[in-house]
Amino acid sequence: MAKFDVIFIGSGPGGYVGAIRCAQLGLKTAVIEKDETFGGTCLNVGCIPSKALLESSEFYHLAGHDAAAHGVKISKLEFDLTSMLSRKEKIVKDFTNGISFLFKKNKIESYKGTGKILNPGLVQVTAANGTKTELEATSIICATGSVPIQLPFLKFDEKQIVSSTGALALTKVPNELIVVGGGVIGLELGSVWQRLGAKVTVLEYADRICPMMDYQTINILKKSLEKQGMKFITKAKVTGSEIKAPKVELTYEDLESQTIKKLSGDVVLVSTGRKPFSDNLGLEELGVKKDPRGVVLVDQHFQTNIPGIYAIGDLIPGPMLAHKAEEEGVALAEQLAGQAGHINYATVPSVIYTFPEVASVGLSEEQAKEKEIPFAVGTFPFIANGRAKALGTTEGQVKIITDTRSDKIIGGHIVGPRASELLGEIVIAMEFGGSSEDLARSFHAHPTLNEVVREAALAVDKRARQM
Ligand code: FAD
Ligand code: NAD
Repeated sequence: MAKFDVIFIGSGPGGYVGAIRCAQLGLKTAVIEKDETFGGTCLNVGCIPSKALLESSEFYHLAGHDAAAHGVKISKLEFDLTSMLSRKEKIVKDFTNGISFLFKKNKIESYKGTGKILNPGLVQVTAANGTKTELEATSIICATGSVPIQLPFLKFDEKQIVSSTGALALTKVPNELIVVGGGVIGLELGSVWQRLGAKVTVLEYADRICPMMDYQTINILKKSLEKQGMKFITKAKVTGSEIKAPKVELTYEDLESQTIKKLSGDVVLVSTGRKPFSDNLGLEELGVKKDPRGVVLVDQHFQTNIPGIYAIGDLIPGPMLAHKAEEEGVALAEQLAGQAGHINYATVPSVIYTFPEVASVGLSEEQAKEKEIPFAVGTFPFIANGRAKALGTTEGQVKIITDTRSDKIIGGHIVGPRASELLGEIVIAMEFGGSSEDLARSFHAHPTLNEVVREAALAVDKRARQM
């Protein structure tokens, strides 16, 4: 029987990055993956294909709406959805093949099949043809990720009632797309299809979209998306659906007026969150503790209540994000190799790749209030920035939140052009325990969008210069 120091079950960002770090540290490592390709949700049906379609559709939208302002004339503008989808598929394939290459390069053994933990130290792999192989390992790491939540009255057929996976592969632009759930997936994939011509209506249960994010920041995004044509119905509890070919009719309760309403569309995207996936992994038989939502509970070393069995990524508490899964894989690998890997959960960035983008780290204003932290806020708009003007994208602002007792940055929220890239500066400042003064005193090349970050840092102390 093959014997390893570490076996990862699941090859998403948690599993594949963790396995590479284990191998780099000299641990004999194997990865088990049930799907045909490596890379998990992120590479196959998540981060990468969604960003590919967001870029293509934004390209089309900008060509149609903004090129003329730059003096660029396009006489006949059209898009070819088949090419857009093939481009997305090629990007996915390049990355998933890249993981196979990285496994070979790092001498990581890979097994295709479903992994099940029979006992601490013993894993069974069942291949697609039914062949079973047993493997031994000192440490077994569950990195089996998450799957979309399915509502009982909206079963996915991935054609008309779709999860994110179906929404990434529609072969025709729907005339009317209804999005159930105004979170990250709803806004990103709703944007893709809206830019390509669909009328998009978002039904959100809460009183606002993206309820966990900084209110002022999300409100700026909401207004911008409304200007682009997206409709939002909040306080809407969807209770039923009926196929009335070729349409789907949804029934929802308007929680404000307490009346029942109907809405029809060609396609319904259900994006009401994801749930941890640990079916057939053997955890129940072994008595591994989970919370009522199926989240696997671990200690600060990612170990479950059963010694030798660990879990990382979407399977455990915390935001379901690829970079969080990756960092957990790395920290655990380093701990298993006797090093001091650790994660600072206060600085996990999160991004919504809409136009404009939203990027956040740390506490929102609402969370700072709730925690009774004395705080100061500095904001600065992109409209006053030379680079943003040159780009022709001046919507949005940067907001920096500091603890007034120390000036230490406790939150950063950007809505605007390239927010995802700009946030990095605030994340690093927070990681180093930095203050708004530190950001304000650091050189920022001119003219760059980053100058808005510095101005927001200056605004904390009411000394922004350019407004
Ligand atoms: P996963 O990536 O889900 O990988 C788990 C793997 O385990 C899968 O390959 C699965 O097949 C395998 N597996 C499960 N059970 C078994 C078993 N018993 N045996 C063998 N293999 C098994 N995050 C971001 O940070 N940025 C983004 O832009 C972003 N965009 C997203 C867009 C969409 C549409 C979606 C759905 C998600 C997005 N995410 C994004 C979230 C991100 O994809 C996840 O947080 C991340 O993939 C979690 O990594 P993981 O390693 O925990 O699990
Ligand atoms: P989400 O948690 O971001 O949003 C779900 C939304 O649906 C919430 O606003 C919630 O209030 C609402 N909701 C829940 N039940 C509802 C119901 N019955 N009717 C109407 N609304 C309802 O979840 P998601 O958008 O499905 O994304 C899942 C996960 O994938 C997230 O945790 C996210 O971190 C990850 N993801 C990240 C990115 C990114 O980083 N850019 C992109 C896509 C997905």
